[in-house]
Amino acid sequence: MNNVNYIGQTLKNLFSKPATVKYPFEPREFPERTRGHVENDMDVCILCGLCQMRCPTGAITVDKKGQTWAIRPFSCIQCRSCVDNCPKKSLSMGQQYQEPGTEKIEKKFDLSDKQKEALAEQARIAAEKAAAAKAAMEAKKKAEAEAAAKAAEAAGNTADVKE
Ligand code: SF4
Ligand code: SF4
Repeated sequence: MNNVNYIGQTLKNLFSKPATVKYPFEPREFPERTRGHVENDMDVCILCGLCQMRCPTGAITVDKKGQTWAIRPFSCIQCRSCVDNCPKKSLSMGQQYQEPGTEKIEKKFDLSDKQKEALAEQARIAAEKAAAAKAAMEAKKKAEAEAAAKAAEAAGNTADVKE
């Protein structure tokens, strides 16, 4: 490097912003698409279990009966597979990294009351539809059986007349 370049680089470094930050005294700014940790919006999650099926490390547990969603952050490798496969888009990647720890913790979240009510209403409507479909099927079978009986009876009467 010649002297002119050297002086130019020195002056540039003197007046430009440092590349490093005074961490931990200054908070670190993460790039926009940093994969720090997984977050779930329990107002939107429907506990379908797809994220659990798509997680390569088994970090997620969906308990439909208990209406909870849980993640073991130290098992998560931030691959984003769960986020990309969530049909309700309730999962997202938070930028902040999981704090280190000495225990393999599990973070468990309850479905929100709003979502519990919405799912209960959906289940009620589905049960009503299933009951209506079952009743319609039984009525159809009964009508078919009655029609068959009438046809048989008519056939019997015709035979009697011939005799
Ligand atoms: S895939 Fe999405 S909606 Fe389904 S259980 Fe996971 S977070 Fe909830
Ligand atoms: S980011 Fe990857 S490893 Fe982490 S919970 Fe989601 S699917 Fe599992």
